[in-house]
Amino acid sequence: MRVNLLDFDRDGLIGHCIGLGEKPFRATQLFRWMHQRGVADFSHMTDLAQSLRSKLSESAHVLPLPVISQHESADGTLKWLFDVGDGNAIESVFIPEDDRGTLCVSSQAGCAVGCRFCSTGHQGFSRNLSTAEILAQLWHAEHFLRRRQGFHERVISNVVMMGMGEPLQNYHALVPALRAMLDDHGYGISRRRLTVSTSGVVPMIDRLAQDCPVALAVSLHAPTDALRDSLVPINRKYPLVELMQACLRYLDAAPRDFITFEYCMLDGVNDQPEHARELIELMRHGAGRGVSAKFNLIPFNPFPASGLRRSDARQVQDFANRLQDQGFVTTVRKTRGDDIDAACGQLAGDVKDRTDVGKRMTRTPIMISPSSQAHHDH
Ligand code: SAH
Ligand code: SF4
Repeated sequence: MRVNLLDFDRDGLIGHCIGLGEKPFRATQLFRWMHQRGVADFSHMTDLAQSLRSKLSESAHVLPLPVISQHESADGTLKWLFDVGDGNAIESVFIPEDDRGTLCVSSQAGCAVGCRFCSTGHQGFSRNLSTAEILAQLWHAEHFLRRRQGFHERVISNVVMMGMGEPLQNYHALVPALRAMLDDHGYGISRRRLTVSTSGVVPMIDRLAQDCPVALAVSLHAPTDALRDSLVPINRKYPLVELMQACLRYLDAAPRDFITFEYCMLDGVNDQPEHARELIELMRHGAGRGVSAKFNLIPFNPFPASGLRRSDARQVQDFANRLQDQGFVTTVRKTRGDDIDAACGQLAGDVKDRTDVGKRMTRTPIMISPSSQAHHDH
């Protein structure tokens, strides 16, 4: 079996090259060819010795993910559906803005956490993605966009791990992928512009602080344990007091001086004035001392099996005002890519039913249904 070189961060690639009897700087050259220039074919890596190139072509390859489909929204949002085998598909979404380009990346096929408002959660868990499968999403998006725009410089400035899956339940594959994204010889994304979003896997928040501190977003969605238990089931294992204390600890290592709390606005469930009051109380006293917080309110993207409704815009604004009045920076997430089902909660929706995707599929059936979520901001 040939090794997929997208599975390595630079240290991993150095180890691999040493195993082939090569010097470490050769690995850096190879890493730059792959990630900075998007080259997969060893014969094009002209400053590598012929002997290394032939060694590599015998034992390794740079294997991207097969693209099932690409959709572009009227607002410029681009969504790719990738085939990860055995009937599983995952999605990535690119959101262009004036001052940045953000890619929303998936970490798992499905998700085991099972949040009530999330269709990935309803779909269940298929499997973890490998480092190569996580990184290949960025590899494809960045080099596709550069080629298309005739750019030689970076197009993607921000990455958010907010596609399908719970990144901190796929920790071992996640960390090398993050490191390759951060690496100046790789994608050179800054720590502040690389965000891991989690439903609250407390021990792994601590490990991330140690191993690879990047910006952290916590999917909170409820201010009390009783309500959060019912929306985000992992709360039963790691209740709010533990989660808030982990956030406090994370801030010591974090590249930003606040944690982003995501809050999906569900009509009549978590969007009342009392919830805003409880949320403020949680931020101030839930961990013993105050946690420096920014809020991101997400209008719920409904799907039939959820039995939940989106809060109306006035309710969302009222909630935002209550937080803001108490000094918390609060944003309401704009929905982008609605027309191509790339907004939060719409990813990988009903692939089997979408004839335009079906026609382009190289293999059937893609099992993912109904949809997942992704988030795009920062
Ligand atoms: N599993 C991680 C990261 C992926 S989910 C996490 O939960 O943080 C990314 C975000 O999308 C989460 O904040 C999640 O709550 C949100 N989300 C999921 N389903 C949604 C929906 N139907 N509408 C709006 N946001 C949703
Ligand atoms: Fe998993 Fe995140 Fe969806 Fe919850 S919101 S089910 S953790 S992907």
